[in-house]
Formats: sequence, C-alpha cells, structure tokens
Amino acid sequence: MPELPEVEIVRRSLERRLTDCVFDRVEVRAPALREPLDRAALEALQGCRVESLERRAKYLLIRVTSSRRESCNILAIHLGMSGRFTVVPKDEPYARHEHLAIHLRDADGHRRGRLRLVDPRRFGQAFVLDAATWQSDRHFAHLGVEPVGDLVSEPFGGSYLESQAEGRRGPMKAFLMDARVVVGVGNIYASEALWRARVHPKRSVARVSIRTWNRLAEAIRGVLNDAIAEGGTTLNDFTDGEGNAGYFQVSLDVYDREGEPCRRCEGRVRRIVQSNRSTYYCPGCQR
Ligand SMILES: [Zn+2]
Repeated sequence: MPELPEVEIVRRSLERRLTDCVFDRVEVRAPALREPLDRAALEALQGCRVESLERRAKYLLIRVTSSRRESCNILAIHLGMSGRFTVVPKDEPYARHEHLAIHLRDADGHRRGRLRLVDPRRFGQAFVLDAATWQSDRHFAHLGVEPVGDLVSEPFGGSYLESQAEGRRGPMKAFLMDARVVVGVGNIYASEALWRARVHPKRSVARVSIRTWNRLAEAIRGVLNDAIAEGGTTLNDFTDGEGNAGYFQVSLDVYDREGEPCRRCEGRVRRIVQSNRSTYYCPGCQR
C-alpha cells in the first residue's frame, strides 16, 4: 500500500510532467471503484489546464482551471491499496484495470501522452472538487496536520502533539497513527518513529514531557523525510512510466526485524500486536 512518502514522490515526479498541460480528453473507462467515478464531473475537466500538483495526506490534488479561467477545480486522486497514477506515451496500449485515462497536450497543442489511473484492487479514488471549498469536503475536513509539506497552517511539532494529547489516554502508537491528529503516519512509520524517539509503543500519551513530544515530532518528520529522499532516488522510474512507479522499499531500523539486534543498544527487536497490527520495538532502549 502506498504511504505518504510514495504519494509525495508521485507528486514530485508528475509535477514536472503535468504543470501547464491541458486535459485534451478525459476518458472514464471503468467507473467501478469503491467510490464509483463520476463520469460527468470528470469529463467536465476536458479543456482544463493544470496549474499545480499538491498533496494532502495521501491524496494528490491536481489544481486545474478551465480554458477561460472561469472555474478552478481540484482533481483529487487516492491510490488506495494498489493504484498507480502515471503518464504513459500516447500510443501505450490500455492496461487492464485502467479506470481513468486523461489524454494530455501541452500549451502548443502537442500531444503529451496519457495520464492514467490503474488500480486492480479498486480501492483508489478519483473525484472532482471546487478549488475554493475542497478543504471542507468529507474526505479532508477531519484530517490532522501535515508532518511534512505546507498545505495546512497549523505547525507540526512537539507542542502541537502535546496539545492534541491533552485529556486523552491510550497507547502512543495509536495516537501517532490517528489521522485526525497527524496524517501520514502509517503502521510502518509509527514503529520507526517510536524507535527513533526511544518511546515505547505502549506508553500512555498522558503525562509525557515536552522534550519527549519534541523528540517524537522530530522523529516523525525524520522517518518520512528520509523515506521521501530515498524514494526520490528512484524518480527516473516514474518518469519513464515503469510498472513499479509509486512503490519503493525504504531502509527500516526496527520494522519487520523481530529477533534481530537493535541498531542502537544491546537489545533485540520484539514484535507485539496492537489494534491487530504488528508493532516492532526494542525493549532495551524504548521507554
Ligand atoms: Zn535498542
């Protein structure tokens, strides 16, 4: 499943390709996704020009304006479990599970290939929102702050985490994975961030010092930024429209290393299950 770093890499790789391109023709080929594609709304984007590509949580936001600039919309894309969102050459045969195909041309009218959403497991999403009001849409209204990126005004840091934890109980790991608090901390990155910050995954969020909150915020930012940097090295694969686009392996310090030596102390990595998900941590140095 693509996580925030993968989505950010897709955004960076497509940004160069898409900005200033025009949606020549929008083709809804297979509307049956978990949230069915709205054919009329998507086809109405024909003739629109791409202004920018942004990201909010794991959504790609393509900001487009109509040819006479009388309207500004957002095409939101989510990759779900298995989605791939790439630009392929214009003659590329259609893929199985190619739900959405957007034929592109540049400002000079030259054809620029085809932007496509391919999703065999159909958990992906593609929908259109008014650019002025997208943040109040149900997909976005309840999202917490961005740990990396700048789409929300509230700054992410230790004080923010501390304020969010006020009056709450429960284990640290579940708190960090709560998208209403902070977006983008999936199961793997939660284990990694807790290890970096030397915080036990079961530790209660009550009575945590500001120093620890600061360490956690820094660790979250660090693991995500490191993954983005690592994924960035594979950027050429995306722009070539390779089959692996959007998915990469990152080096992990603790996740999936049960029984192996801790990279920081004499301890050995242990696996526990929290909320039906595996958590990896080191009992030697995480308190
Ligand atoms: Zn350790």
